[in-house]
Amino acid sequence: MKVCKRCLYSEGHALNLTFDKEGICSGCRVHEEKDSIDWIEREKKLLKLLDFYRAKTKKNYDCIIPISGGKDSYFIVDLIKNKYKMRPLLVAYNKQYNTKMGIRNLNYLKTIFQCDCIENTINPNLSKKITRYTLDKIGSIYWYNHLGTTTFPVQVAAKYKIPLIIWGAHQGIDQVGMFSHTDEVEMTRKYRKEHDLMGYEAEDMISEKDELYERDMSKLFYPSNKDIETIGIRGIYLNNYIRWDSKLQHEEMIKKYNYETMQQTRTFNTYDNVDCFMYSDLHDYIKYIKLGYGKVTDHVSREIRLNHLSREEGLKIVEKYQYNFPKYLNMFLEWLEISEKEFFKKLEKFNKLKKEDINKLEKRVLFNENIHSRDLLYTNNEKFIINSRTNCIDDKILLFDKGYINNIKGN
Ligand SMILES: [Zn+2]
Repeated sequence: MKVCKRCLYSEGHALNLTFDKEGICSGCRVHEEKDSIDWIEREKKLLKLLDFYRAKTKKNYDCIIPISGGKDSYFIVDLIKNKYKMRPLLVAYNKQYNTKMGIRNLNYLKTIFQCDCIENTINPNLSKKITRYTLDKIGSIYWYNHLGTTTFPVQVAAKYKIPLIIWGAHQGIDQVGMFSHTDEVEMTRKYRKEHDLMGYEAEDMISEKDELYERDMSKLFYPSNKDIETIGIRGIYLNNYIRWDSKLQHEEMIKKYNYETMQQTRTFNTYDNVDCFMYSDLHDYIKYIKLGYGKVTDHVSREIRLNHLSREEGLKIVEKYQYNFPKYLNMFLEWLEISEKEFFKKLEKFNKLKKEDINKLEKRVLFNENIHSRDLLYTNNEKFIINSRTNCIDDKILLFDKGYINNIKGN
């Protein structure tokens, strides 16, 4: 299998990669644009676009920003509201595998930036039924979250007639160079279905014998083409307009707003997806057995391209994290109410690993405990900061938690 000479991606990447004569992958080649594009010009183009919507939406919100308590949301809201002076409506989909830290990050975000926010929690029983079904059918414990986070903001755009949705980085550009930054690719139903949703819409998951009825699933249907056209809904990606460096952006947010971060089981990255017990843990373990690489390879490849890591350092980091057994497996089994045996039986048909890699997985002991410390700024070997407001241990899934409030100075 071909592996890129610069990053650690191989031709087995889920989004498809191509390689040139020098053995460099398309993701690395498109990444090179980051150092040749005139970003001042790109930003001017973005400002023009934002001005257009601001002028158009006088009595309404200027745009929608989908947010979570675990990723680029602080950076995006800070940029769009404070720097570019837009009036965003924040939209959050409850992923239900919430960590306390994720709930804190989300609540502080709303308070710090003083924004209105609409949140959606689907019936927790329905989320379990969907998860049982998708685990069986497509080997995914995360599909309903991908569905919700990519559908709910568009539903809100349609309902409140707010045409502009602002997303962070486009994964296809960032990981595999599927498009150039200058193509200015926007959100499409097709890309979302093929890549985020593994080829399945909510409509395709209706199954009466699994108690997934149309009346329930229809809450998660994507708005009609007619609605999208009439309102003129479009979703833009900020990484087409500003030079995207997720690590530096997060570090700026830690400094400015005390964004909280934590050590994770299967990746050195302490910034992404800290709102969710399963994403970088069990969900990533499943990704690894299905595809032969995990989130740590995504994170390492990204940092190599940004010159934050060398290729050699990256290889060592992948070796260190890739085989870690998921820490939160039992928590998930309890939540879904299935046995460990049943769970692994269901996964069997999706397992594409070679025998030697399976052996490594079986031998690997649990990763050491999370580090929790009040106001601790700690840098691990891979130079990612761990920052927490509390020393409480995150040990159970929370559907909701109280807010954290209010004596924070906003802007
Ligand atoms: Zn590459």
